[in-house]
Amino acid sequence: MERKKDMKFKINDRDWEIVEASQAKMCEVEGVEEDARNKFFGLCCYDSQTIYIWEDLHPQQKRETLLHELFHCYMGVYCSFEDMQWNIDIICNLVGNSHDIIHKIVEDYFNNSNTKIEMTIDTPSIALLKEQKEPLKGKMIC
Ligand SMILES: [Zn+2]
Repeated sequence: MERKKDMKFKINDRDWEIVEASQAKMCEVEGVEEDARNKFFGLCCYDSQTIYIWEDLHPQQKRETLLHELFHCYMGVYCSFEDMQWNIDIICNLVGNSHDIIHKIVEDYFNNSNTKIEMTIDTPSIALLKEQKEPLKGKMIC
């Protein structure tokens, strides 16, 4: 198993942290009992600006889970879901706009670099993307 590690990163001028955690810790964060029905691979917590990744995941699944949670994070800090009419162009723009920042963070994370990541996206290319002044409340579960 890979060494457990945590990493801070900055996205849209907000300080976030990636934390590898036990299943018990993730259930505690989510406020549920730890049992077979509650198994979390990752959590994206806007309230604490923390991404939790289950420490016991296979490294390949850990990477995929981190990508997934970082996309939740990206959506939370750059986008609004209000009145969003999903279509293929919106999805393509989201993937295109978020790809570099998300993959840079993942690359840094798995290369064991603790370099702080500073990235900004000045003008999201679709009108539906609008910056939120306050972080979203609550958590995203995958
Ligand atoms: Zn999810």
